[in-house]
Amino acid sequence: MLHDQDLNRKCPCGSSKPFSFCCEPAIEGYKSASTAEALMRSRYTAFAMGMVDYLINTTASSHRNPDDAEILAEQVLATTWTGLEIISTQAGQTDDEEGVVEFIASFEAADEAAQLHETSNFRREQGQWVYVDGEVEIRPQSTP
Ligand SMILES: [Zn+2]
Repeated sequence: MLHDQDLNRKCPCGSSKPFSFCCEPAIEGYKSASTAEALMRSRYTAFAMGMVDYLINTTASSHRNPDDAEILAEQVLATTWTGLEIISTQAGQTDDEEGVVEFIASFEAADEAAQLHETSNFRREQGQWVYVDGEVEIRPQSTP
């Protein structure tokens, strides 16, 4: 049962839109992400909310591994995601077949704040955007 508070809850991806109008339709499967950036945001939100099935379903079929569910479930438990900033996007629009999204996601794990800086590659499979792979750099969060 949804309450007003839930409907108006801001989406974890930092878009400042309510969750129900942002990443929820993609995660719940009502409406797939229309751009690579939208898919990336919804995957961040799925990480933040621990929706492992969605993360697997939006990984390119060639990049899935049998132990993904187990690894992701462990990651989700060990990590608290605290913010997302999109740095840049290339292609990945509604009429593209491939796209690149560069972003910084902040997280806390084992009581340490850190940032994941990733340039991710996305492509369409059967019309749906999926995550292929990325170049990842993890660095400690600079303390102000
Ligand atoms: Zn969102």
